[in-house]
Amino acid sequence: MPADTPRRVSVQPLLPLPGPYEYRDDGNTLEVGEIVEIPLGPRQVVGVVVGEGPGVVAAHQLKPVLRRLDAPSVPAVSRAFVDWVAAYTLSSPGAVMKMVVGGRDTIRPPAPVPAFRIRRASIGPASVGPAAKLTALRSRVLACLEDGEARAAADISAATGASSAVLRAMVAAGLLERIEMPVRPQIDLPDPDRAPVVAFNPAQRRAVEHLIAAVRRDRFSVTVIDGVTGSGKTDVYFEAVAEVLRAGRQVLILVPEIALSVPFLDRFAARFGVRPLVWHSDLTVARRRAVWRAVAEGGAAALIGARSALFLPYADLGLIVVDEEHEAAYKQEDGVIYQGRDMAVARARLGRIPATLVSATPSLETVVNIRRGRYGRVALPSRIGASRLPDVELLDMRAEGPDRGSWIAPRLVEAVRAARAAGEQSLLFLNRRGYAPLTLCRTCGWRGACDRCSAWLVEHRLTGRLQCHHCGSSRDLPDACPDCGTRNSLVAVGPGVEQLLAESTVLFPGAETVIASSDTLPGPGAAREFVQSVLAGKIDIIIGTQVVAKGHHFPRLTTVGVIDADLGLSGGDLRASERTYHMLHQVAGRAGREDRPGRVWLQTFQPESPVMQALAHWDRDGFVAAEARERQAADMPPFGQLAALVVSSRNPVLADRAAGVMARAAPHYADLRVLGPAPAPLALLRDRHRRRFLVKAAREVDVQQVVRAWLEPLRLPSAVRVSIDVDPYSFL
Ligand code: ADP
Ligand code: ZN
Ligand code: ZN
Repeated sequence: MPADTPRRVSVQPLLPLPGPYEYRDDGNTLEVGEIVEIPLGPRQVVGVVVGEGPGVVAAHQLKPVLRRLDAPSVPAVSRAFVDWVAAYTLSSPGAVMKMVVGGRDTIRPPAPVPAFRIRRASIGPASVGPAAKLTALRSRVLACLEDGEARAAADISAATGASSAVLRAMVAAGLLERIEMPVRPQIDLPDPDRAPVVAFNPAQRRAVEHLIAAVRRDRFSVTVIDGVTGSGKTDVYFEAVAEVLRAGRQVLILVPEIALSVPFLDRFAARFGVRPLVWHSDLTVARRRAVWRAVAEGGAAALIGARSALFLPYADLGLIVVDEEHEAAYKQEDGVIYQGRDMAVARARLGRIPATLVSATPSLETVVNIRRGRYGRVALPSRIGASRLPDVELLDMRAEGPDRGSWIAPRLVEAVRAARAAGEQSLLFLNRRGYAPLTLCRTCGWRGACDRCSAWLVEHRLTGRLQCHHCGSSRDLPDACPDCGTRNSLVAVGPGVEQLLAESTVLFPGAETVIASSDTLPGPGAAREFVQSVLAGKIDIIIGTQVVAKGHHFPRLTTVGVIDADLGLSGGDLRASERTYHMLHQVAGRAGREDRPGRVWLQTFQPESPVMQALAHWDRDGFVAAEARERQAADMPPFGQLAALVVSSRNPVLADRAAGVMARAAPHYADLRVLGPAPAPLALLRDRHRRRFLVKAAREVDVQQVVRAWLEPLRLPSAVRVSIDVDPYSFL
């Protein structure tokens, strides 16, 4: 290339724009993957160099890359992952790249900190002149810095107990010199060879061998650990983790909800000596920065994270574990809409590394992938030790329900009392936060609804507010009806956990009873405290939502009552039965985890339904087979494909008009149907009016291609938003 022709590069800004865009590389030094600053309109934004420029912008319009930022480059596999996810989810690559790079704050290099090293002239204790007073403390400091390297003041203090005043005095005495040093935050590396904590049983040993073999093969594979709750799945995959750590590579363990992971972190620490790094949306900026850099520089050996951790620019990822792979929480529902478990498999494929999916109740998608031979499977069919699965009893609410206005059936009341008398703990499960899901006026029929969503307001008596669980807006609980003004006329309809607490307090006087929901356990600290007080036996009855359904191991918990087992079935969407089955199966698995036998009571109005029957007999495979037949007959996922398109606008007329434009342009093919538009079940959400299309297609169809070809030519007003959800889990 002649010297006067500037080199051109393609740069992807971290913005939901069609990009990448072309820039000039004046210094001719930029490499693909580097993070740079570029002008974009009037702004200066962060972007990633993704390739050579295509040469489409006229030379006089070509703007220069402003500078290279001091951050590790985005590796090739991460860039390929961005392109793949963007194409699959029909999102802009910039929006996906933002999940990889974070932003200016995330990539900022660590600020320099004060550090000290031995003054050259004084290396070695012998060279310290008699003038310098050498106390025991000062000697320790010199010993700590003996190798001549500089160390951060904080590290020296931690190692020797010397305060910063002592260090300053040593500078004054000519023993040390003070410098500014950029430090990488201290990352403790896990030790793979802390002896395994447990002696594996034969099934576990087979599973461990299988997983280690997959790690050693070092190419793409997916293995499912299919094991009943309490079968020791975690200890098994920890051995695969250890094998990757031994090879000096990185491991990602994905979990559905990070708040649940506190006991998990301790367990990891018990096996590997240190806690793993953690990644989720609520990290402080400083922590986010430290973890991002550690991961990108290759320093972090093990990271546990929520689904977004998948996008970090790992320098050398060697294994992805997806724990509780069936969890619906892996689905990201806004921004770039994606299924974390599915993207984990895609990331493993692009990185040519193994993935491990873990579950007691694998999703139908995973079951079908095992059947098709795409995924391997190792089974852990029995619980550890003497513990066996609890007996599950269906309580037919039509025949033996409680009196009107109460929620706990007499037989369940007896069971909880008996457990208490035996010094055992009970869990009453109701997946509904707050006091009551609906408040209405007895006089005029007013119902508390959200102004911004088509949803009822949920009464939270503990905070004295009516709250919308969709948009989070709330208002004071009124004394009088807001409509007719009648006092004492508002009634709570249906139970939430707070109401269940009130009922329990009456039924079980003297019992230590707590609510465990996202309201009462807002963060990891509260969750840890809760777990500890349950383990210490300070709690008799837990009234819990889904936050207690999973992962916990409470040896004294023997009795589980599910207050409304039918609750999840009412939505009627594609996965309602499967979700209900998974959740109740998990909840039931909390009972009798050690030597005391467990007992589970499901309160239901439809004891004959396939879900309840499967639960009563622990017939997971029967349930899955029936569910698979039904989905296959209806050509529903994973046998067919779905994509949901939601058109929304603050202006309902615009939403309807745009939906009309889309409907007229809708594609027609033999093996694809477009259903809708129809008002979404949540027709109003956060002030936006929503209309839905559903694309239903055979498995072979390139749905992304069809949707792209459908939408790209359309010119919709900017006040209208179309969000695309490939393989939707929410049908609201
Ligand atoms: P799962 O994840 O399958 O529900 P866990 O991994 O939580 O099961 O195991 C349940 C308990 O059993 C844990 O406390 C675990 O440390 C312990 N455990 C696992 N394997 C063994 C074993 N072979 N011998 C004894 N205890 C074990
Ligand atoms: Zn009223
Ligand atoms: Zn709302």
